[in-house]
Amino acid sequence: MTTIGIIGGGQLGRMLAMAAARLNFRTVILEPQVDCPAAQVANEQIIAAYDDEAALSQLATVSDIITYEFENVPVAAAERLAAKRPVFPPPKALEVAQDRLVEKRFINDCGIATARFHAVDSQADLEAALADFGGSGVLKTRRLGYDGKGQRVFRSAADSPAGAFAELGGVPLILESFVPFEREISIIAARSTDGTVACFDPAENVHRNGILHTSTVPAAVGDGTADAARKAAKAILDALGYVGVIGVEFFVLADGSLIANEMAPRVHNSGHWTEAACVVSQFEQHIRAVSGLPLGNPRRHSDCVMQNLIGDDLNDVPAWLAKDDVLVHLYGKTEARAGRKMGHVTRLVRG
Ligand code: AMP
Repeated sequence: MTTIGIIGGGQLGRMLAMAAARLNFRTVILEPQVDCPAAQVANEQIIAAYDDEAALSQLATVSDIITYEFENVPVAAAERLAAKRPVFPPPKALEVAQDRLVEKRFINDCGIATARFHAVDSQADLEAALADFGGSGVLKTRRLGYDGKGQRVFRSAADSPAGAFAELGGVPLILESFVPFEREISIIAARSTDGTVACFDPAENVHRNGILHTSTVPAAVGDGTADAARKAAKAILDALGYVGVIGVEFFVLADGSLIANEMAPRVHNSGHWTEAACVVSQFEQHIRAVSGLPLGNPRRHSDCVMQNLIGDDLNDVPAWLAKDDVLVHLYGKTEARAGRKMGHVTRLVRG
């Protein structure tokens, strides 16, 4: 039996392991946390840090193919593994996605618009960059930000930047121009080893407290906007010689044009709806892609709304289970801390 090694043991790894099992693959999870969501449903866990040399060697020994479920896998570790086994998506995708400045330049080089941006390495840089954008902008850490963490919004010149560089940790930052978007969408796309690309329909995403709250499909955008999102995803996948599933997030402006925000070289929270509304989910699609199997048809058979269950939302599970046309998916996390993703539900909307 073929074994797929997965770096990272969270809910995305869990759902990848479940999809892999259905296609007769074994899975091994590399994750320091004991009894992590992914290991609960995988064949094996290597309990070690993501950059532990001995653990990485062991992962390469026991796996035929290696993939990952989060974008902060150390690039050096992915490259070391790639010398021994196929690593998909390619380590280059990690390098691009781990640094917002590198990512924006790469996306622009693919011919895709982003917000304007300046690198910010000091308080003086910040003040100069804000002056260029008329006093408004979104300041973000270049690395390791997620779910709106490590960010500061300047709405107008009245918002003083005093001390902001130090407040975000004195680390390399990026100031983006403030995008007056009407809505946010994302596209989940896959590229196979033979270069075939398949895109799921764009989802419309609503965030609460910086965390994804709902993804609604179809998104309320015209065909031209949906096509532009597909084209942009394909350009990114082709430029990286990518294999696997990617998530690309966009802002939609009033005229329907798109501004790319960021890409995640992995299965994505805004693609969870695919397990309920498509025959082949994003998780199975990723497993098919990295193992060299044909991609599934990404066609959507139902309209739907996916909602994340955060922290105490777990208490609503019995009520969700009592409804028709709802798929409930829980992640095996024992402690329902505030802000923690505990599961999600997808409600099919029948016309
Ligand atoms: P991110 O961590 O880049 O996904 O940003 C988190 C959220 O902040 C996004 O989903 C947007 O709602 C908002 N945001 C991020 N960047 C910008 C921007 N340049 N202009 C306006 N809103 C933004």
